[in-house]
Amino acid sequence: MERATYDLIVIGSGPAGEKGAAQAAYFDKKVALVEEAPGYGGTVANTGVPGKAMREAALYLSGLRQRDLHGLTLTHDGTLTVDRFMHRGRVVRRALDQWIGANLERHHVDVHRGRAAFVDAHTVRVEAGTGSRLLEAGVVLIASGSIPHRPPTFPFGEPGVYDSDTILQMERLPRSLTIVGGGAIGCEYACLFKALGLDDVRVINSSERILPFADEEIGSMLREAMESLGIGFHTPDAVEKVEARPALTLCLRSGKCLEVEALLVALGRHPNVAALRLENAGVRLDEQGQLPVNEHFQTNVPHIYAAGDVIGGHALSSTAMEEARMAMVHAFDLKYKSGVSPFLPIGVWTIPEVSMVGETEAGLRAKGVAHVVGRWRYDANPRGVLIGERWGLLKLLFSWPDEKLLGVHLIGENACELIAAGLVAMTLGATCSTFIDTCFNYPSLSDLYKYAAYDAMGRIRRGDVYRP
Ligand SMILES: Cc1cc2nc3c(=O)[nH]c(=O)nc-3n(C[C@H](O)[C@H](O)[C@H](O)COP(=O)(O)OP(=O)(O)OC[C@H]3O[C@@H](n4cnc5c(N)ncnc54)[C@H](O)[C@@H]3O)c2cc1C
Repeated sequence: MERATYDLIVIGSGPAGEKGAAQAAYFDKKVALVEEAPGYGGTVANTGVPGKAMREAALYLSGLRQRDLHGLTLTHDGTLTVDRFMHRGRVVRRALDQWIGANLERHHVDVHRGRAAFVDAHTVRVEAGTGSRLLEAGVVLIASGSIPHRPPTFPFGEPGVYDSDTILQMERLPRSLTIVGGGAIGCEYACLFKALGLDDVRVINSSERILPFADEEIGSMLREAMESLGIGFHTPDAVEKVEARPALTLCLRSGKCLEVEALLVALGRHPNVAALRLENAGVRLDEQGQLPVNEHFQTNVPHIYAAGDVIGGHALSSTAMEEARMAMVHAFDLKYKSGVSPFLPIGVWTIPEVSMVGETEAGLRAKGVAHVVGRWRYDANPRGVLIGERWGLLKLLFSWPDEKLLGVHLIGENACELIAAGLVAMTLGATCSTFIDTCFNYPSLSDLYKYAAYDAMGRIRRGDVYRP
């Protein structure tokens, strides 16, 4: 059998695999990357970004983004196919595939197409249609991502039942969609499909709160915004039984039964490790089936690292890339970077967008940290009025009395971009006066930072401060 030796074997070409491989190769390591899918880029390139492209198309075609300004609404007539909205998604998908391929080529990473499985702690077998080969290396990076959690209650395989990996494969847009799970993926798809003009989109969630990781005020605003789009909620509730025939019917804990046309189950994701034969390398999962790593991203076998969705946590591309880079810094003693930033942003592409970094108000209260809140709404900002954003809010959390920026929370148009100012500020140890002293463009949404800081200053003066 063909055999090759490397400094590093990377399993997966998603954000973690690509960046880990490129990082090590940049520092002159001989790197092999194994990918079983026909294209590069993993989950974010194949479902995440095409979904966002579809969202852009839906916002554009429906006029939803500015319909309050222009009085526009378009609804679909029941004949639209998902394919029609995927044009841009395919363009972006192709571009990502080419960029990642070019990046790996530029760094002289050897790509092996096929499925990777450990033979022993230093050897990986790659099985492809054309045969198999063995790769050996001193270091291995597992970046095999995640797969959707599929609870046995749901009849996956029946027509109309989808998870977050298969939903974009649906051919014809249904009239209605029911989504189980009010996390980021569930809420993003609820907004997307409502914007595509579906008559009935509902979310079933076990708690009243959607986006449980978000600041409560922002989560409540999002729910209100989604309700105003016409999205229905069954909360707190849960699916207890599903009948696939004669019609797809969900029986809920509340006693309600819903006949649904299409169902998306968005109840989290699992590490994708089943094919890896981890036992051959001595790599252990924990009791919950997670792949634990230490602060250097080492598994229990020190030269086998893991990064990205496969280790759980934030489960975002941005974080996955940073984790993989840091894993390689440790594995090859590269010393150019000291750690993954403690300030990791979260972006949720709902309508409106939500983004956050740092502490939430409830988190600070739970930790007993004295703090002050500064808020400014988009509709009190000239650019916010100009673009007609009803739901926008920037909320800053500062420690008290030293006024250090501890949390940034945004809902509204461009929230996932606007977060960058707060993110950098927080990384540099900004205080309230950082924003007071900064001159922002006018009219711009960035100016929200200044006015939210003024708001916090006013509250400090009035004594409107949380003291544990
Ligand atoms: C619907 C959806 C929307 C999302 N939107 C966003 C977003 O907007 N922004 C964001 O930052 N994140 C988003 N995410 C999360 C993001 O997709 C993941 O965090 C990211 O892709 C994780 O990267 P990764 O490299 O760890 O794994 P993945 O991207 O999953 O890549 C793993 C790769 O490993 C390959 N692989 C697996 N096993 C093997 C094997 N045995 N042999 C060979 N190859 C193998 C797979 O084919 C795959 O290409 C979204 C996720 C979903 C599901």
